[in-house]
Amino acid sequence: MDIKNVMVIGAGQMGSGIAQVCAQSGCNVLLNDTNEGALKTGMKNIEKHLTRSVEKERITEEEKNETLNRLTASKTLDDAADCDVVIEAVIENMDVKADVFSKLDKITKKDAILATNTSSLPITEIAAVTNRPEQVIGMHFMNPVPVMKLVEVIRGLQTSDKTYETITEMAASLNKTSVEVNDFPGFVANRILMPMINEAIYTVYEGVASPEDVDTVMKLGMNHPMGPLTLADFIGLDTCLFIMEVLYEGFGDSKYRPCPLLRKYVKAGWLGKKSGRGFYQYN
Ligand code: NAD
Repeated sequence: MDIKNVMVIGAGQMGSGIAQVCAQSGCNVLLNDTNEGALKTGMKNIEKHLTRSVEKERITEEEKNETLNRLTASKTLDDAADCDVVIEAVIENMDVKADVFSKLDKITKKDAILATNTSSLPITEIAAVTNRPEQVIGMHFMNPVPVMKLVEVIRGLQTSDKTYETITEMAASLNKTSVEVNDFPGFVANRILMPMINEAIYTVYEGVASPEDVDTVMKLGMNHPMGPLTLADFIGLDTCLFIMEVLYEGFGDSKYRPCPLLRKYVKAGWLGKKSGRGFYQYN
């Protein structure tokens, strides 16, 4: 299947990165968001990233302009009618995602593939709200999308081989390496990463060490490029909490219980870097 037209839904940190790499690979990309401010910020961020890439001589000014010309802001899902692939990157909430997928199922052409960038929610459940579960798949990019090489490609119960192959080929055309993953809570990346982040938060909660010291232990002691609390701030504490809830509910195992301090920060609106405050403060 030739993928020319793509819509990315959700212009937040993930959606704008996904839209950027799709446009850089030559696709016509619609970036959609229900929030006009978020859409503007997302489009602006893409331009900023591309300008930085020109300054670092990774791409030419001409490539930047061509990429921007392939990108269009979209305020309505109806624009997805001509798309070959739609990649959803709205907030990590099943009701919101299910609503988007059931609308997309009615709007998009019959052979369009509907992909989700969910970090942890069941692909099979998202697919079940559509009449084309064999064309629904997980395409889990890592943050920041233009930099990170990995995409977890997650097969729902009914995802067809054809859909899997098309999306694997698309990931390769975006210069990403994909791994095939089955549909279990947290997939591979977040089943391993999130309990580590949650444990780091418990370490702070129980007064074992400060956030700075926890991060230093993991950076200098374990050779992690970034400490787990810095990483949690970067991912978004709301997203971390959503994922822990999915693991906790999905496995029914108390080892996945979200740390009360994580809940408290999210309730306070301390969502990490995107809100200016999390375990650290940001300008
Ligand atoms: P974000 O909060 O930065 O962005 C979400 C965007 O979705 C917002 O701009 C919001 O306005 C928009 N939105 C909400 N409802 C919408 C709707 N119905 N239609 C269109 N737009 C809508 O979140 P994010 O960090 O970009 O995460 C998005 C998805 O990617 C989540 O499923 C998350 O789990 C997943 N993800 C996140 C990371 C990460 O590190 N943050 C990594 C991999 C995957």
